[in-house]
Amino acid sequence: MHEHDVIVIGAGGAGLRAAIEASAAGVKVGVICKSLLGKAHTVMAEGGMAAAMGNVDDRDNWEVHFADTMRGGQYLNNPIMVEHHAKEAPARVLELESWGAVFDRTKEGKILQRNFGGHRYPRLAHVGDRTGLELIRTLQDHGIHQGMEVFMEMTVVSLLTTGGRISGVLGYDRERGRMRIWKAKAVIMATGGIGKSFSVTSNSWECTGDGHSLAYHAGAELMDMEFVQFHPTGMVWPPSVRGILVTEGVRGEGGVLRNSEGKRFMFDDVPEAYRNQVAKDEEEGWRYVCGDKNANRPPELLTRDHVARCINREIKAGRGSPHGGVFLDIGWIKEKIPNASEHIKRKLPSMYHQFMQLAGVDITQERMEVGPTTHYVMGGVAVDGDTQMSCVPGLFAAGEVTAGLNGANRLGGNSLSDLIVFGKLAGEHAAKFVKSNAAVEVDPAQVEAKTRAIEAPFERPNGENPYAIQQDLQNTMQDLVGIVRTQKEMESALVKLDQFKARLKNVGVSGHREYNPGWHTAIDLPCMLTVSESITRSALERKESRGAQFREDYPDKSAECGTFNLVAKKAPDGSMQVSRRPVVPMRSDLKAVIEKMK
Ligand SMILES: Cc1cc2nc3c(=O)[nH]c(=O)nc-3n(C[C@H](O)[C@H](O)[C@H](O)COP(=O)(O)OP(=O)(O)OC[C@H]3O[C@@H](n4cnc5c(N)ncnc54)[C@H](O)[C@@H]3O)c2cc1C
Repeated sequence: MHEHDVIVIGAGGAGLRAAIEASAAGVKVGVICKSLLGKAHTVMAEGGMAAAMGNVDDRDNWEVHFADTMRGGQYLNNPIMVEHHAKEAPARVLELESWGAVFDRTKEGKILQRNFGGHRYPRLAHVGDRTGLELIRTLQDHGIHQGMEVFMEMTVVSLLTTGGRISGVLGYDRERGRMRIWKAKAVIMATGGIGKSFSVTSNSWECTGDGHSLAYHAGAELMDMEFVQFHPTGMVWPPSVRGILVTEGVRGEGGVLRNSEGKRFMFDDVPEAYRNQVAKDEEEGWRYVCGDKNANRPPELLTRDHVARCINREIKAGRGSPHGGVFLDIGWIKEKIPNASEHIKRKLPSMYHQFMQLAGVDITQERMEVGPTTHYVMGGVAVDGDTQMSCVPGLFAAGEVTAGLNGANRLGGNSLSDLIVFGKLAGEHAAKFVKSNAAVEVDPAQVEAKTRAIEAPFERPNGENPYAIQQDLQNTMQDLVGIVRTQKEMESALVKLDQFKARLKNVGVSGHREYNPGWHTAIDLPCMLTVSESITRSALERKESRGAQFREDYPDKSAECGTFNLVAKKAPDGSMQVSRRPVVPMRSDLKAVIEKMK
């Protein structure tokens, strides 16, 4: 058995930042991750991290960022978290720089910031379109000198609790297939997202919602799970790359969306709340891209839910591209600037190579085919806005696995800054917790029961193939709980989820325990099912359209629904109960900020 003060589950941006902070506080920290260190999903982040530094437009400040984030989240966000985020993100970005991160620069040598959907001013600090890679490289380089112990290629399968408090975690070594126990006084959950519960996703293989499920089964609450963000622009062709992200940075650099008739359709549908912030014509939109402070943003840079629905509408109306998407055109900027090809390759190097190598498309000359892809979950473990601790004593959470910052929808770029702001807070408060709470003993009966359940598929070599269930689950979520939802479809999804649970009891794997991908999938499946059920039940309960949730049977926002968050919790009989919780009230000074920014 390993022994630590704090165990961090996950080595993405949130986990590493939390581990750095807890280690710096002088407690013994272990980090467990499914893949190799440096390979977490965060490396895929492209566009940048949002921080109101005002380097490109000095009108930006924390108040504007606060108001933008609350508006994007349709006021279901926890204002305390939004305040921490807006105020602390600039310092966290500068800290990364002091640890060696090499950001793109303005002519004056400041950190360069780019436009992104929903942000009033250029706000995303970036490194070309490889910002996540630089973030992880920096945190990893800095972190390994802080004394943390790293356990790579290990999957945590259960949180251990004794008397309702965290006592450790149980996991297995993916390489050798052997079980391991880590005793710990506190656990920081930093396991990222859930995209793999859907068939079309930009997320990496790791994003099976493990942390959401582990926390839920240990007694934590999952909040806002109905809010799943479908990014408007994923690749649609060829089929092997369907879902891979096409960064919003393309639109930030001037890329426009057109339908099969060549029409720039986003101008046709600008929501009332944004009307005075959107360019009135193409010419004003281009001036905005070029940095004209008197111009408003082009409609392609509206919030993701809105752009995704507009694309969906064009496709459904038969005005889509040949492979079921619409066209994203950045090459058109050659009409505006002389060295457009070189400019695009310099600004969007990964996108250039991605399309060239995966689809044989030269984006400097040809239009890309894009469509919505499951991208991010706003919902997650409910935490205290100041400490990041959940309702389970000793269980903290940070990053995408956590709810609260984003409300009904996340603005692009707010995740990378979330990781460094709340990773730090979680590390700090977990360290404080372990200094004032003694360790509790691990319960051997829990370890034994979970180990038996994990190993059971080997006893059924002729049982059902886990990949068959996984595929059926992904298709069900995509088709019935996707971008446009109805009560009837979601009720039929719940029936299917029950059937998958029954099939799971008969899942079988053959072969040995070393690197057995079928077995790994069988272990992921219960997590994916818990996540899928919480999304579906919460989406059914929210009888309105708001942020990322669009209900065809309730197409409007309801004032009453704007007063609560939905919380999924495991009842004593093992069933999932979803209940309403009033939104965290906003202090009067923060209300004044919102008024001022209207
Ligand atoms: C293609 C793409 C581009 C993006 N671009 C941006 C962007 O430009 N700006 C922005 O703000 N956001 C962006 N996002 C979102 C952002 O990247 C993610 O929300 C963020 O990186 C999540 O970080 P995290 O630290 O919470 O989790 P992750 O980076 O997902 O890390 C999770 C960690 O948990 C580990 N883990 C998971 N389950 C277990 C388990 N059971 N046991 C042990 N370890 C486990 C994993 O191995 C991994 O180490 C993008 C997302 C995608 C998909």
